Amino acid sequence: MKAIQVKQLGGPEAMELVELPVPQPKANEAVVKLAASGVNFVDVYFREGRYKATPPFVLGQEGAGVVTAVGPDVNSVNVGDRVAWTGVQGSYAEYAAIPADRLVPIPKGVSDEQAAAAMLQGMTAHYLSHDTYPLKQGETALIHAAAGGVGLLLTQMAHNIGARVIATVSTEEKAELARGAGAHDVIFYTKSDFETETKRLTGGKGVDVVYDSVGKTTFEKGLNVLRPRGMMVLFGGSSGAVPPFDLILLSQKGSLYVTRPSLVHYISTREELLARSGAVFGMIAAGKLKLRSQHKYSLAEAQRAHRDLEGRKTTGKLLLIP
Ligand code: NDP
Repeated sequence: MKAIQVKQLGGPEAMELVELPVPQPKANEAVVKLAASGVNFVDVYFREGRYKATPPFVLGQEGAGVVTAVGPDVNSVNVGDRVAWTGVQGSYAEYAAIPADRLVPIPKGVSDEQAAAAMLQGMTAHYLSHDTYPLKQGETALIHAAAGGVGLLLTQMAHNIGARVIATVSTEEKAELARGAGAHDVIFYTKSDFETETKRLTGGKGVDVVYDSVGKTTFEKGLNVLRPRGMMVLFGGSSGAVPPFDLILLSQKGSLYVTRPSLVHYISTREELLARSGAVFGMIAAGKLKLRSQHKYSLAEAQRAHRDLEGRKTTGKLLLIP
């Protein structure tokens, strides 16, 4: 089978198209023939070595397809089932062997491509808006990179809850998409100062929560736009890691809260994984969550996919179609 392997950590050129044997399922595993594999910023972190994996490894944390074989002791899935997963390395490939308890069924009304597009970013948007800081109707959220993969989904969920979304984006096209997802206000944070703008838009009150996946270039100013006792949810570092900072700042800026959550801790049990994926798939099937999957690449084009993602050229989801 074809797969994208990282033999040595590095830039996009570190991803090689290789030929590997189709995996055989071990105990408690199922082998899935991929219909689509999701490309996520976390793949960049693994490729570079910011997150740890030992080369050589097949990249990719998210996929969907059909079960072709099951190992001994597997009775939760059968050959022929449509399934999806996230959080297991190795989805940039034609086949992947996945622990059966990490697979979720794809319901009718959701396609394989939609499932691959929603597992990581959809469940992330869900836990951020429903659990990390459970947004309420009438509250205001600042969402950075709102036209990105997570951003467009988080904006829609926040809007559906009845919260006001102030979105940051870098281009007109992205602004249009953020508005379409329900953003009330859009700030071009590469051209104007988002701190000044957010304060102006909230009449000086500040926002209840900042959802920040950009990190290095936005974190500190983000603290300045929170209301007293507001929450900074730092969930990524697309512009780089946030340097260490002095906790006394949280007191000085209004008894603020800061958290640095990861999806893995919000889907750690089988029950939570099924409930959260079910909630997201339910929103898709009901037409309440629109997925934007304009960027599709073959496995051989994986390097280009990463260059586009890192180069801020993409909006919504990127998929590899093996
Ligand atoms: P995106 O589609 O959001 O792509 C990243 C976006 O970040 C860009 O499109 C760009 O939007 C913005 N950005 C701002 N500064 C930079 C920069 N210097 N370089 C590149 N991009 C920049 O990616 P994903 O949806 O895959 O992921 C978004 C973030 O969420 C990532 O940081 C990821 O690690 C994180 N994440 C965290 C999870 C968690 O559980 N903690 C789970 C899933 C994702 P613009 O041009 O508008 O500025």
